[in-house]
Order: sequence, then C-alpha cells, then structure tokens
Amino acid sequence: MTYNVHVHKVEKKYLWINGKKVTSDTFTPLYSPYSHEKIADIAMADEQLTTDAISSAYKAFNIISTKPAYERAIILEKVANLLTERAEQAAEIIALESAKPITFAKTEVARTIETYKFAAEEAKRIHGETIPFDASPGGVGRMGYTIRKPIGVIGAITPFNFPMNLVAHKLGPAIASGNSVVLKPASQTPLSALFIAELFQEAGLPNGVLNVVTGSGTIVGEAIIKDDRVKMVTFTGSPEVGIGIRGKAGLKKTTLELGSNAAVIIDEDVNIDSLIERCVMGAFSNQGQVCISLQRIYVHENAYTQFVEKFVAATKKLKMGNPMNPDTYVSSLISERETKRALKWIEEAKQNHAQVLVGGKINNGILEPTVIVDANPKLKVSCQEVFAPIVIINPIVSVEEAIGYVNDSQFGLQAGLYTQNINHALLATDRLEVGAVIINDIPTFRVDHMPYGGVKNSGTGREGVKFAVEEMTELKLVVWNQLQN
Ligand code: NAP
Repeated sequence: MTYNVHVHKVEKKYLWINGKKVTSDTFTPLYSPYSHEKIADIAMADEQLTTDAISSAYKAFNIISTKPAYERAIILEKVANLLTERAEQAAEIIALESAKPITFAKTEVARTIETYKFAAEEAKRIHGETIPFDASPGGVGRMGYTIRKPIGVIGAITPFNFPMNLVAHKLGPAIASGNSVVLKPASQTPLSALFIAELFQEAGLPNGVLNVVTGSGTIVGEAIIKDDRVKMVTFTGSPEVGIGIRGKAGLKKTTLELGSNAAVIIDEDVNIDSLIERCVMGAFSNQGQVCISLQRIYVHENAYTQFVEKFVAATKKLKMGNPMNPDTYVSSLISERETKRALKWIEEAKQNHAQVLVGGKINNGILEPTVIVDANPKLKVSCQEVFAPIVIINPIVSVEEAIGYVNDSQFGLQAGLYTQNINHALLATDRLEVGAVIINDIPTFRVDHMPYGGVKNSGTGREGVKFAVEEMTELKLVVWNQLQN
C-alpha cells in the first residue's frame, strides 16, 4: 500500500558549520527503522570537524549576544512560521527516520512550532530584579539589580525519540537568550535537525550561531564536552550517557534530561471508562519510546479487574504497521537491537511468574503492544526504563501503598494520580519523589512551556522554554554605591 507522501530522494547530508554545508571523509548510510530502506548518506564528523564547529560558534557568540532581543525574537518567529508552512514535510522526515507513526509525528511538529513561538516570546522578557540593599545595615546607601547574560557556546546533544521538538527545546531558549550552539543530534535522526538548520538560515540567523555536527556520540559528543570554549552542555538522552557526561563536564554547566519508568496511580473512585484511552496513549504512543511513557500502572484492587479487562481490550484494537499510514498507532522500535532487548525483558518477566495478557511477540518486525500483570518490582520491566510498548499493571490496596511503589525507583521524572479524593491528591503531591505530579492525568502529560525535568537518575535542571533560559544565562549583579558629596 502506498501513502500520500513527498517522494523521498536518497541524498548526501553534510555537516552544517558557519552557515555552510561541510563535507567529511566518511559518510554512513541511514536506514528507515521500519522498511530498512536507505534514506540518506550522513557525513560523520571527526574530532577536528567538531572543533571547527565549536570555533565557528565561539566567533558567532559575539554577534548573537549583542543582537537586540526583538531581533532574536523575530528570527525565532520566522522559524515557527516557516515550519508551519512545511509542517507536512517535517512530519514525514520524523516518521521516515524514526518510525514514529505519522499522526504522532504531526503532533510533534505542531509542538515544535509552539516551542519556537514560546522561545520568540521569552526572548523579550529575559530580565533580572531590583535588590533592596538597605534591608541590611551594610547595604544602606546602595542600590542594585540583577541582569541575565548569555553564557557562550552551548553544546546540545539530543536523542532520537522527539528529533524535532527536543532539538527545539535546546535551540529555542539558547538563541532566545543570545547564545550560540553546537548541536549533535542522535545518529538515527539527523535529518530533522538538519532540516531545522535550513529554516534558521532562511529566517536570517547569522552564520555560525547554529552548527549541526552529525556523527558518533563517542567522537562528536566527547569532543564537545571536553572543549573549554563550550560553557554548557545540555543533554537529553539515556541515564548511562548522561551520568558519563556529568563526570567529564567539570565545572561546565550541565542540564541532563534523562529517562524514567513513569507510573500512574488509579484510585477506587474514578470512572475507569473515561481514562482507558488516555492510559493506552501514555503507554504505547511512539512505541513507548517517550521519557515519560506510562510504564507502571497501579490500580486500586476494587477497580483492578475492570481496568485490566478494558485496557487489554483497547490495546488489542491498536493498528500496527507502516509509520506513513495515518491509521498506524504502533510501528517499529528504533532498531532491531532494541526490539530484541525488549523481547528479552518480556521473557525474563514470563520466567518469573508474570503473565503477558496481550502482545509479547514480534509481528512483521514490530513488537506488539504488550500488557503484563503480576510482575514483581525486581524485574527489568518494572524497575528499569523499558522504552518499548510494554506496560505493567498491578493492584494496590491504597493510594498510600502505591506512592511507596512509585517512589521505589531509581528514577523520578513525572507521576500521575487519578482520584476524586482531595486528601489522596494532597498526599501524592507531597510525597511523590518526581519532578512533576500530574493529578487526574497520566505522567505522559507535557506542554512545552511548563518546567520539565526530573530528580534522582532522571536528571538535573529544567527545560520548558522560560526555565531553560534560566539555565542558559548567568545571573550578574550590579551594585551602585550612592556616594554623598
Ligand atoms: P542515548 O543513547 O543516550 O543518546 C542520546 C544522545 O547522546 C545521542 O545524540 C547520542 O549519539 C549521544 N551520545 C551517545 N554516547 C555519547 C557520549 N559518550 N558522549 C556524548 N554523547 C553521546 O539516548 P537515545 O537512545 O537517543 O534516547 C533515549 C533516551 O533518552 C531514553 O533514556 C529517554 O528516556 C531519554 N529521554 C529523556 C527525555 C527527557 O526530557 N527527560 C526526553 C526524551 C528522551 P548517538 O546517537 O550517535 O549514539
């Protein structure tokens, strides 16, 4: 079956340094995770080319940091407008390189547009505050205020799972606040990042402010982290790589947006029918490859049987297939390696008395959406980040008990609670060890201006444009001594 998509030509894709395409000695073929067809040849940067990109960003910092806020805002607005015009093409690129079903890819593009709009707006309100110096006897006769200064070259390293919007969460606030950037996109999803670089060029971003360096994480990523001219590393990706970056970054600022095994608690007093579709979406959208994907569901024992039956029935209806098909809900994982890894975790669960109620098999290369019950907390599907269309459901006797299970995790990004009971909601907001508690929704809820980030192994720092701007600027204090003549 064919779908109404732009014809995709296999092209060579180059590095983007100082406003120009730059070639490399090595190119690597990029394949679609779904069809395994070759979709591009990607230039692989070495350490020297990465250093060239950093030099270009270092020079351009002077240009972007002295541009008035309104001009930076205009560039970001233009990117949002250009992306709106090319939204279909952008969604197809995401679907092609990451196997994200096209319906979800379109949602990602719509969110990316919003993220750049938020960044354009935020560029105009980066300011400090006045300090009441005379609150201290030693401060009498002084007045002063803080200002926020851009910090310099930012190294941005991004994952494959939201290849356009997570790039926007780095480029938007960085450029809004007058920084220059060296961006290293995930090796499987460089096309979305290179597409956005072209839009920035068209929108009038000065050469060198944005540089995109494709290539391996260990070569390009490490070269970015160790260069003294890079003042901040903003990373979104796996905890393993994030922890390594933190270890090597020294005194550089770091923002780390890492993984989780996000959970929702469902109290006994909620209408189960009203939340099934939402929970299915939380567990299986983008094949579960979402950092706040719903991995663990704790349902009050009085509602448990009903919830499981309805959830399984809804899961069975999900359409699997080609990501370009608008009816597809679940497609391939990012690689066969990941598919095999997820299958092994399901096997481990089965061998340890867990029951697979639906899914658990590969169907035309696609891992079926999988629902597991009776999984003990030590199993990988419970305690590690599953990052696949797998969800576990467990009964609980009380919300309080469930809070204990949710907190019994190395991660803490977001958690959800459905309840009608205000005391249970208050208890959860107080006790859950996460970056955000979502009442009456799944932990997968996110809009792009909210503060977003985790505790524990889910990371440090916050994104969400305004909050990323805070991370990407230094607070400078100015004090005036009012001399009496
Ligand atoms: P990943 O394997 O950690 O890769 C992320 C990025 O790091 C890629 O660009 C990768 O390059 C690069 N990288 C790999 N090794 C590196 C090194 N030694 N030094 C510097 N950079 C290196 O993660 P992923 O598989 O793409 O993404 C999935 C993970 O991201 C999940 O854990 C998910 O939870 C997390 N995530 C978190 C958030 C959040 O906001 N908290 C959002 C989305 C995803 P290569 O591709 O070339 O290896």
